[in-house]
Amino acid sequence: MFDTLAGNQRVKEILRRMLKERRVPGALLFAGEGGIGKKLFALELAKALNCRTPKGVEACDRCPACVRISRSSFPEYSDDKENREKIVWSEHPDVALARPYNRVLRIHLMREIEREANSRPFEGKARIFIIEEANKLNDASSNALLKTLEEPPKTSHLIMITARAASLLPTIRSRCQTIRFSPLLPAEIEAHLLSRKQVSPADARLLAYIARGSIGRALVTDLESYRHQREAMMEVVTALSLTNDRARLLRASEEMNDAKHKDEYEPRLDLLATLIHDVWVLSLGAPDEQIINQDMRPQISKIVSGIDSHRPARWLSQLEQHRRGLDVNINRKIATDSLFLTMAETW
Ligand SMILES: [Zn+2]
Repeated sequence: MFDTLAGNQRVKEILRRMLKERRVPGALLFAGEGGIGKKLFALELAKALNCRTPKGVEACDRCPACVRISRSSFPEYSDDKENREKIVWSEHPDVALARPYNRVLRIHLMREIEREANSRPFEGKARIFIIEEANKLNDASSNALLKTLEEPPKTSHLIMITARAASLLPTIRSRCQTIRFSPLLPAEIEAHLLSRKQVSPADARLLAYIARGSIGRALVTDLESYRHQREAMMEVVTALSLTNDRARLLRASEEMNDAKHKDEYEPRLDLLATLIHDVWVLSLGAPDEQIINQDMRPQISKIVSGIDSHRPARWLSQLEQHRRGLDVNINRKIATDSLFLTMAETW
């Protein structure tokens, strides 16, 4: 059932309507950022098309066809050359996946899809071929795929998935019906985590905010390491607002720029922004629900009591400016020192 998936209500409606009118196109393009559920929607559509005991037009989630398609984790590529240039079958013999190898969707894969798409369903009512990272088709494989897209058999459906629809050849795009996916709202992620995963309310809320629209990101975030990094950023906010400890600020900058933490630099800036955001909204007297770091409410209140609401507002714009500067090549360490010292002097 589509309701088991998080977010994108509009897409659910479009797919339900296609199923109801029995007009699921032979070629669909699912476009939208990574981690927002495009592949799960594709599998859900595959289930609806093959379910043995559908509920209305949707999958029952119980029959053997639904169960096997749901379990489709698609095995890892094996290393030998022959296998990695083949499509990967799910546990259901009519649902398969093609994905890039070495950043290219190879021509062999598209030829195999052409062959398989021209066969009748083996067990179910429809054959579904999911093409992941469709923007990684090259000219040769795009041309091979065009053949299948020109006259797809009625029982076969190609679902192309991409975060970069604009990189596909126009000839490919024009033969697909494009469905656009949106990033999820924090409330949608929170509700999904609470109803389907074993997550405490405080963690669900935190994950929903830090996921920035991606349910995938919410599911892979390691909260323990996240909290550790956040603690370090909380020390920055404390040094800025309560202790005015410049040496502490420069130490924090050094730690952030340490090669060991290279990949954590931008996440740490994001964390710093969420903490300052919380200080700011609380200093304006906003209701508690607007606080992102609910679990740090006592520390945040302590900071708010000693600060004027103008300061966090200015810090946020200084942070934003700093972040824009990171795109241009600058010495990160010097820029971070300067950011923190400027923030300390901002009143
Ligand atoms: Zn079913």
